[in-house]
Amino acid sequence: MGRTEHLQGDDSGIVRAAELLSEGRLIALPTETVYGLAGDARNDRAVARIFDAKGRPSFNPLIVHLADAGAARALVDWSDAAEMLATAFWPGPLTLVLPLKDGHGLSPLVTAGLDTVAIRVPAHPLAQVVLRAFGGPVAAPSANPSGRISPTTAAHVLAGLDGRIDAVLDGGPCTVGLESTIVGLAGTPTLLRPGGIPAEAIEAAFGAPLAQHDGTAITAPGQLGSHYAPGARVRLNATQADPGEVLIGFGPMECDLNLSRAGDLVEAAANLFHHLHDADRPGIAGIAVAPIPQHGLGVAINDRLRRAAAPRG
Ligand code: AMP
Ligand code: MG
Repeated sequence: MGRTEHLQGDDSGIVRAAELLSEGRLIALPTETVYGLAGDARNDRAVARIFDAKGRPSFNPLIVHLADAGAARALVDWSDAAEMLATAFWPGPLTLVLPLKDGHGLSPLVTAGLDTVAIRVPAHPLAQVVLRAFGGPVAAPSANPSGRISPTTAAHVLAGLDGRIDAVLDGGPCTVGLESTIVGLAGTPTLLRPGGIPAEAIEAAFGAPLAQHDGTAITAPGQLGSHYAPGARVRLNATQADPGEVLIGFGPMECDLNLSRAGDLVEAAANLFHHLHDADRPGIAGIAVAPIPQHGLGVAINDRLRRAAAPRG
């Protein structure tokens, strides 16, 4: 990618950070929990680049960062429980999982094709001003290569991602230094991941105990009950369509939909959920998908395709 700009947390750094987000580029953004690897959550390519920069082997859903609860109400089906917890803990290290509203405009890569989204309003003053200056939803997992420790300083970010992101906005050390607590509100209120706010504090504000997620936090969409899977049968490594099949191609080939005619894996990831949805037409014999190279983002694409093709109960 080239050089990573080191932006100071002053007016010009803030303006530049918002400008890069508007251009679909990636910045490391300080939050009170850890530095986030931030991109425009509505931009398929930007979100695909987040997974590419981290070297993530799967498309697990990302947290969407918003300037305030008003922005949240525009994206999700708001509820009394959400209002109560947002009033008590936002801005702050609490993430809420809520059902998406129609016309939400988020890239399906952000939610890994789910019909729920994880949202949070960060308290860090620099995150706040950048979100306001940018004016849209920002997808941001921790700004570290996959499998490495979450970064709590700009130097940590650069140690892992220098040359792989467009800029880091230096906000000094993160004060919480722990990931956000995640509470699921799409069904029974459930603690999905422990984090910066203790579960007891949330239960006290809520006035009732939270259900406990069995096992640890959800790390992949395949672990969720309601994850998107096409209705049609999915056949992998196809070189041509069988009768009645819709063929999703990759690279220069004849097909109904092409993930990337140029053979670009970032473009293919950006198109993946859109094409699976578009191909999933009633009455078809199945969806056939061309082979995708198993390197870079191809690893995560193939992981998602294997889940889509797995036998379902
Ligand atoms: P990170 O952005 O790296 O802090 O991780 C985000 C966490 O939120 C992961 O554990 C995800 O599995 C979880 N998450 C994001 N979206 C959802 C969702 N819609 N439902 C359940 N968990 C989610
Ligand atoms: Mg992380």
